[in-house]
Amino acid sequence: MGLATINPATGETLKTFEPLTDAELEAKLQQADQAFQQYRKTAIAQRAEWMQAAAQILESNKEHFGKIMTLEMGKTLKSAIAEVEKCAWVCRYYAENAAEFLADVPAQTDASQSFVRYQPIGAVLAVMPWNFPFWQVFRFAAPALMVGNVGLLKHASNVPQCALAIQDVFDKAGFPPGVFQTLLIGSDRVAALVADDRVKAAALTGSEHAGASLASACGKQIKKTVLELGGSDPFIVLESADLEAAVTTAVTARLMNNGQSCIAGKRFIIADAIADQFERRLVEQYQALKVGDPMNLDTDIGPLATPDILQDLDHQVQACLEKGARAPVGGHPIKERPGNFYAPTILTDFPPGTPADQEEFFGPVALLFRVKDIDEAIRLANSTSFGLGASAWTQVADEASRLIEELDAGAVFINGLVKSDPRLPFGGIKRSGYGRELGIQGIHEFVNIKTVWVK
Ligand code: NAP
Repeated sequence: MGLATINPATGETLKTFEPLTDAELEAKLQQADQAFQQYRKTAIAQRAEWMQAAAQILESNKEHFGKIMTLEMGKTLKSAIAEVEKCAWVCRYYAENAAEFLADVPAQTDASQSFVRYQPIGAVLAVMPWNFPFWQVFRFAAPALMVGNVGLLKHASNVPQCALAIQDVFDKAGFPPGVFQTLLIGSDRVAALVADDRVKAAALTGSEHAGASLASACGKQIKKTVLELGGSDPFIVLESADLEAAVTTAVTARLMNNGQSCIAGKRFIIADAIADQFERRLVEQYQALKVGDPMNLDTDIGPLATPDILQDLDHQVQACLEKGARAPVGGHPIKERPGNFYAPTILTDFPPGTPADQEEFFGPVALLFRVKDIDEAIRLANSTSFGLGASAWTQVADEASRLIEELDAGAVFINGLVKSDPRLPFGGIKRSGYGRELGIQGIHEFVNIKTVWVK
């Protein structure tokens, strides 16, 4: 796929970009390696000062950066601006806390002194997706740079202007040249890149296919990876739940980012006793949503990022409908306007063997399941190969305890929306990936945990 900005709301190609030549890529690798030799010795207080400056630049230019995101991948401008603010938050969080997270950890042994020291490892490659084009990068880069590593970004091919803008933020914040670089390359060059000695590890956020491909390339080189992959998160509502709060949150959970979020609630698993009421209220709230130009601040839902995503999603929906599922609302692309718009959709009453059982639906399509009790809810929730997040709604403490204990997921949110937060680790189990970003755990992924023993 070529590197280009194609407006998802109109289909218009706005700008194309030449990928780096081999010589240009080599120069960037050399620069990263040289930069690391100096940067690893900088004081953490100095790194924090630069990271605070990055936060300031983000905040002062949030509309400008937001518009680039909306133009390239179609998220609503209001959510794009909120994303820039969140990036500033993660920069500040690690600027303020990295010294504590990276402090030596003493241990009592037979030595006169023994402790653990966290040290940087060098250049880390980040292969990133288009769906949160700023947030995914900053949640990788803020801890990586605070540790003293240097970052190399291979961003998704449809967000090249975001990729260049992010390097610009770090350059303008004062980080030395080479500490964070964007590499405009296609995914066909990633395997060769991780085979290079100067690249020490890699993180990927994206599809299972891409994750498996990067992990096998890194496995051959004995290099560490962190993978943040897909999900089909359950959103469980039991009989005692606050139904109104659950329905309103369900709409946000499914439709944020035009339905293209890894941690979107995708399978709504509802207790029989309240299922009709839940469906009716969900349909009403769906029908009130404003689909349209994502640059308008009152738009709720914009287009999908690419025509391929729209086509894949529609195939999944049609496969469910052909097998006999029911769509109380939506179930088709919006053909009356240009761009990749898909009608917000609810599907329910699935016969066995539909894509709803196992696949991730990456767009504004809610899958509604009915269950008789908590046992069936947990069984159904755990029945996919994914394990990213889970949201569950109940007012009964014993039920909450069971859900926390028994749901197979990297995160369980009781009576709330699954969301990422700099203060909490983020990641999945099963085919949703491994390793963690954010929190104290996130800063310890790409470090040498050096054991020191002195007598
Ligand atoms: P994707 O196709 O896997 O793309 C993600 C990144 O991987 C892009 O930079 C892409 O580059 C690159 N890539 C693709 N194939 C590759 C390969 N064989 N080797 C190395 N790199 C490769 O992902 P997507 O479909 O655009 O993104 C949506 C997926 O990401 C969904 O499944 C979603 O759930 C998941 N996601 C997960 C998280 C999380 O935190 N767990 C967050 C957001 C999204 P090109 O663009 O050049 O192909």
